[in-house]
Amino acid sequence: MKNYKIAVLKGDGIGPEIVGEAIKVLNVTAEKCGFTVAYEEALLGGCAIDATGVPLPDETVAKCKAADSTLLGAVGGPKWDTLPGHLRPEKGLLGIRSALGLFANLRPARIFEPLREASPLRADIIDGSLDIMVVRELTGGIYFGERGRLEENGVQAAYDTEKYSVPEIERIARIGFDLAMKRGRKLCSVDKANVLESSRLWRETVTRIAKDYPEVELSYMYVDNCAMQLVRNPSQFDVLLTSNIFGDILSDEASMISGSIGMLASASLGATGSGLYEPIHGSAPDIAGQNIANPLATILSVAMMLKYSLGQPEASDMIEKAVADVLGEVRTPDIYVEGFQKVSCTEMGDAVCQKIKAM
Ligand code: NAD
Repeated sequence: MKNYKIAVLKGDGIGPEIVGEAIKVLNVTAEKCGFTVAYEEALLGGCAIDATGVPLPDETVAKCKAADSTLLGAVGGPKWDTLPGHLRPEKGLLGIRSALGLFANLRPARIFEPLREASPLRADIIDGSLDIMVVRELTGGIYFGERGRLEENGVQAAYDTEKYSVPEIERIARIGFDLAMKRGRKLCSVDKANVLESSRLWRETVTRIAKDYPEVELSYMYVDNCAMQLVRNPSQFDVLLTSNIFGDILSDEASMISGSIGMLASASLGATGSGLYEPIHGSAPDIAGQNIANPLATILSVAMMLKYSLGQPEASDMIEKAVADVLGEVRTPDIYVEGFQKVSCTEMGDAVCQKIKAM
């Protein structure tokens, strides 16, 4: 029987509550699908600062590297907001991504049928199935390029540089094409090749890599048009492949289409494929400890882990189907509307487990 080792970073605020539910769901799914999971807990963020003085202890990095994959809740909170920059919980987050060499960020934007009314888009715009995966390059481009200030003819100026190398584009393109093969076999590469030289290299490289994936239908779109198409006709997209800055903006736009922050999962992948999986929301200190947080983003992060790192696509589909089913019956307060049963964080986790057991 296959046995997976998962590093678990519960983090702060609602982190322990939502991760607890995700683990419950993963255990039920494992039993159903005939594999086992062993968990290795480690500290990250504020809880790590309290226990060890630093947001990312070396032991945490070692445990994540030794695991088949890593599940993260969320970090941060007012208790640590006044600490100097290098000791802030968020520093731990950036640190673990860089220590694990994670260069690709995957953000799905999809609408679960029962939550359709939560989308800010009109029903007729999202009447087709909406299931987009934004694949964003995470460690290159303008956020990491040369920057500076200078004075020109007595006038202050500043600059930032967008730079991509061929290997950087190749590796993110391969992640995008591999994902497209596991999904709808369509990839749209987003750039600004009509203006930017870095975008022209991006497009040339993606075109060359595409030859290795003849089954994937490749298209290109300028970023400004893509921003427009995402609200005009989002169902046309399957995988969107983007640079760091374009993906930063477009993934937020795409995720809003699905309406609720408590529903949004994400993954970060590197060369090893083991990856880091986490909800996109933060530690929600305002509701921590009350058992009212929505655990579905974290549960859906586990579904992504099963599909993209552990090679268990059926188990992943099972969780996604269970989530879609429970949304027709029960809701945590953040997504509650009249006509549904209002449930706590643990009750939502239990409801997903029940659905999986009944499959
Ligand atoms: P947040 O995402 O934590 O919360 C924003 C709002 O959404 C709050 O009202 C919160 O109650 C609600 N919310 C978030 N997740 C929810 C869930 N699962 N169920 C129900 N409601 C939910 O963002 P914030 O308030 O700006 O940040 C709070 C802390 O989290 C800060 O310290 C911030 O630095 C940190 N943060 C961490 C991460 C991360 O760990 N990846 C990401 C963003 C923010």
